[in-house]
Amino acid sequence: MKLYFIYNKMIRYLILLTLISKILSLKTVLKFGGSSICNKLRIENVGSIILEEKEKGNKPVIVFSAIGDSTNLLINAGRRAITDNYVDIYNLKDRHYDLVSECDDKKLEKDVNKYFKEIENILSGIYLLNDFSPRTKDLLSSYGERLSVRIISSYLNKKFNLNSRYFDSWDTGLVTTDRFEDALYLEDCKDDVNKFLNHYLNKDITPIVTGFICKSKEDKINTLGRGGSDLSATFLAKCIEADNVQIWKDVDGLMSADPKKIPNAIPVPHVTYNEARELAYFGAKILHPVSMIPAIQSNIPVYIKNSYNPEHIGTVISDKNESNNLVTAITTKNNITLIDIVSSRMLAQYGFLSKVFKIFEEDELSIDVIASSEISISLTLDENNTINENTLNKLSEIACVQFKKDYSIISLISNVERSSDILNKVFEILSNNKINIEMISQGASKNNISLVLKNKDCEKALTLIHNTFFVN
Ligand code: ASP
Ligand code: MG
Repeated sequence: MKLYFIYNKMIRYLILLTLISKILSLKTVLKFGGSSICNKLRIENVGSIILEEKEKGNKPVIVFSAIGDSTNLLINAGRRAITDNYVDIYNLKDRHYDLVSECDDKKLEKDVNKYFKEIENILSGIYLLNDFSPRTKDLLSSYGERLSVRIISSYLNKKFNLNSRYFDSWDTGLVTTDRFEDALYLEDCKDDVNKFLNHYLNKDITPIVTGFICKSKEDKINTLGRGGSDLSATFLAKCIEADNVQIWKDVDGLMSADPKKIPNAIPVPHVTYNEARELAYFGAKILHPVSMIPAIQSNIPVYIKNSYNPEHIGTVISDKNESNNLVTAITTKNNITLIDIVSSRMLAQYGFLSKVFKIFEEDELSIDVIASSEISISLTLDENNTINENTLNKLSEIACVQFKKDYSIISLISNVERSSDILNKVFEILSNNKINIEMISQGASKNNISLVLKNKDCEKALTLIHNTFFVN
């Protein structure tokens, strides 16, 4: 009787413990970019990071990019196939088979052989049709992530005893808009994805999902655009109501400026979601611009971490503004075209701005910085948005148009409420160095002061401004 009593108590205690650990365990999404999984050593390092996350009692969902720069290799092979009857993809095969040979996994070998056959068939198709459309480009790129999740899941299961299972994103229930190279997830797939992934998490299986690639409702494979696996991670986090997202890269988080241009740039420990968005749009290549949206919507903190230096605190992106600095970070975009559009009728031109914007909308041109008065508007376009003959003709019907090439934008991601203090310092330092600013815009987002100046002045201005706000 007494023994039964003790046994009963123990069982209750165990149930309580399991319940507590379930409550305390966090749901997380860990995304690893190509450079974090570029060879065996790096993949083993990623294995340790995932295991550590599990040892904390957390339940991670893993998102992988393609291995190393496989996406570039695939796209380049496609481009070459337009003119070359035979394109050698030895490089691509080598890096994948090198890992496969360690896995001792017959099904994996079969899948990888089949995928390489399909890649070769697609390349022949491109040659025969002399056509490499966005649809084909997305299909071809999709093999990068499809190969990476299969191979790395098998590799980690074997070497780390990780109980993982790989999925193509569409298997989890994810669906996108019907667009190539620029697809977006559909909101209404959220519940299906949540149910699907929780089923595995509850069984202590770690799901490994392809980033970047997906399928539309019409069942066509597409991609979210280059660097899109960041968005895969934050959207999956939103679906499963994760406690945090960890984006593992090869740098110590967001930096105060591009370290290639500013060697004394420093890591920024904390930025807000909106600052991160502005950073991504205005040239910091570290995050996919749209990736912050699901995190903002669900208020999930995003940690940018360095898989080559996991001890470093990295950057936290959240809704809290914890920085006391006047400026959080500085980005630049070079080779900008500045366009002055002056109305050909001088007075009371209502509708002028709307006509101008309509033309840009029709021709799918995305404007970065704008300054306007009643009869004129100045705006900038980056290298990916060049005006063609047709756009120019339409604009010329309502305005005099003048182009100025070889400009740059320096964006100060900062608290615009203190813009007077910031601009005071910027003007002083630039005027002392005889650098002229052509145009200024304080982003409507309240996080961005953008300066437009000549390409030739950009580097010097960046160094001066960075020294003013970050050195000493
Ligand atoms: N593999 C894709 C790319 O290189 C997606 C990504 O890495 O986020 O763009
Ligand atoms: Mg990649």
